Amino acid sequence: MTPPADLEDPVDLLVAGAELVATVDDERREIAGGWVAVRAGRIVGVGGPGGAPAARRVLRAEGCLVTPGLVNTHHHLYQNLTRAYRPATRSNLFGWLTTLYPIWSRLDEEAAFLSAWVGLAELALGGCTTSTDHLYVHPRHGGDLITAEIRAAAELGMRFHPTRGSMSLSQKDGGLPPDSVVQDDDEILSDSERLVSLHHDRAPDAMVRVALAPCSPFSVTPRLMRATAELAERLDVRLHTHLAEDTDEDRYCLEVYGRRPLEQFEEVGWAGSRAWVAHCICPNAAEIERMGRWGTGVAHCPSSNLILGGGLAPVQELRAAGVPVGLGCDGSASADSASLWMEARNAMLLGKLRHGAASTGARDALEIATRGGAACLGRDGEIGVLRAGAAADLVCWPLDGIAFAGALTDPVEAWLRCGPLAARHTLVAGRPVVEDGVLTHPDVDDVVRRHRAVAGEWQSGA
Ligand SMILES: [Zn+2]
Repeated sequence: MTPPADLEDPVDLLVAGAELVATVDDERREIAGGWVAVRAGRIVGVGGPGGAPAARRVLRAEGCLVTPGLVNTHHHLYQNLTRAYRPATRSNLFGWLTTLYPIWSRLDEEAAFLSAWVGLAELALGGCTTSTDHLYVHPRHGGDLITAEIRAAAELGMRFHPTRGSMSLSQKDGGLPPDSVVQDDDEILSDSERLVSLHHDRAPDAMVRVALAPCSPFSVTPRLMRATAELAERLDVRLHTHLAEDTDEDRYCLEVYGRRPLEQFEEVGWAGSRAWVAHCICPNAAEIERMGRWGTGVAHCPSSNLILGGGLAPVQELRAAGVPVGLGCDGSASADSASLWMEARNAMLLGKLRHGAASTGARDALEIATRGGAACLGRDGEIGVLRAGAAADLVCWPLDGIAFAGALTDPVEAWLRCGPLAARHTLVAGRPVVEDGVLTHPDVDDVVRRHRAVAGEWQSGA
């Protein structure tokens, strides 16, 4: 096979010798013995045995399944400072939040940097290459938390979509959070605009894009929801929030607004393809159909839904209605672990539980974790796919050793049924963030030590 013209010169990097390359491209090509060629941070070719171009560097992928990098569409990175916090481990969503808000009110730039660094590193080890973050706790005098997070992502080399979260309804106004972590609407809107102009990159291979993200119907005013949607329209950035997370929220919205959560969402001007929402466990059939018409995306968070006892999200129905569905690990304090491999596996298992064994397979979960996530973030074709022109974000998953002995006929199913599994190599923009199962950044031990010190202070009340 002769390489195409743009592969005549040596490429920067060649990932070669894979057991299987699952491209998740428009034809869903799966190439045994495949390779992926990278130049200047983008994929310039994907092919099979015999056709690989010359390369300055070759990364061997023998025994590996190669997939697009997984895309995390919902997270609260700062919450890894309160993982498995004992007083909240048996709480439902509202109880869990009210226990933790006073502790989170200590968030500052150092804590935001350390939690983002640790959280994004953890995600890279689990095969994630692009992550969002929903940072909605902005304590007075906390500093520029989102800029601190972006610094952590840049140090690690992760593609990052921070969202400017917000809360404006405190306990005295009938909301859940204490006064110390809410801001007024105008302060939130002007800081949102500042962060977009400072960090938002519109280029196709952008490493940072910013979205706007009021926390939920029970922590912001309808006025802020409406004004945020208008601001996102004017700045041409995306919108994110929690929606239809459990039946408590249904009751709250009916009581306070006289409408169901999705009706309120539409009422405040959010219905459209600019928005993606986290959880979406409780929409009814008519609401699912409306979401499909709007093109509003959903971040499916299987582990979080399980651990909070929230219920089974109607993933198959949402996808059938045309809703873009991505995967989210959600905040570490609810899901406690940030592995998108595990979220993909849980998505597959919950799909089977809801609709039967034949309904959902590893390929459905892989699709949600890659293309689905890219669609939620408005990055179809740019990330979440292995094809010429896309960002060189990919993962080599080792399908060997004890856990994979005997798995011979379907590497994609084996990938999610066997395990547990971490990435052998995780490449973002063609650069290894994880190589041979280890983070390439030299500061890991130091950052984990500093993170532990801050978490200790928070949890002891020091
Ligand atoms: Zn969340």
